Amino acid sequence: MVALVYNTRGTEKDNIDSSIPPQDPHCIRIVCISDTHGSIRFNVPDGDILVHAGDITKNSNMKEFTTFANWMETLPHKIKIVIAGNHDLVMDTEYFFPSQRTSVLQEKEHVLRMFKEKGIIYLENTSFRLPPSLGGFLVYGSPYSPVHIGGAFMPEDLSDVWSSIPSDTDILVTHTPPHGIQDTARNGKHAGCKYLLKAIKEIKPKVCIFGHIHEAFGVHEEEDTVYVNACISNYRYRAVQPAVALDLSKPIGDDSCSQQ
Ligand SMILES: [Zn+2]
Repeated sequence: MVALVYNTRGTEKDNIDSSIPPQDPHCIRIVCISDTHGSIRFNVPDGDILVHAGDITKNSNMKEFTTFANWMETLPHKIKIVIAGNHDLVMDTEYFFPSQRTSVLQEKEHVLRMFKEKGIIYLENTSFRLPPSLGGFLVYGSPYSPVHIGGAFMPEDLSDVWSSIPSDTDILVTHTPPHGIQDTARNGKHAGCKYLLKAIKEIKPKVCIFGHIHEAFGVHEEEDTVYVNACISNYRYRAVQPAVALDLSKPIGDDSCSQQ
């Protein structure tokens, strides 16, 4: 159902995308990136869908958002889906003191307008259904993370936030990893969300795309779900880890996905 087609194990010298195989016409190709933190200087393979799993910026300033939106517009993918992360502070008005929220909201609205103009779909605890030509899959995106280093979208209690994920979600995009999967931080501890793991085990999305824990970049495959920690930045915030591409079989017609 899901075939991993591109995952060069990243090293600081090995950031190339020349090895990607041709796309199977019975599949859609999803290209996953995350935690770009203001960088646009890395390779992105072509595909149908580009997903960014949050931490667009490092410092949450408008220049970073503008650079990102302009760069996204230049990419060839038919659908571009983005969520926020804990560094993208202006997207979370609750993070600020009440006296600051009006001006922060204006900044957020500016970013949302810019995203719309550039053809970027922004999800914040919301869904987007891909068109039938791209399999009609349901994508859900959420910026929440457990309190780890700090920042936006980190409520004290995450026990209930995942109840809004639709039960028929096919592609789940979150900033945090689920607990225990591609989530080991530099201190050796699992930094992912245990409530998210529970929700995933119930919903069984075909693909889970996340980031947040830079040093846990990589892919984990289980029977029902493929998990992608798509962090482009390494733990030093250098954009040296490669994008990950997956081919997902379309549900109608020949559903075999021959790429391996
Ligand atoms: Zn990050």
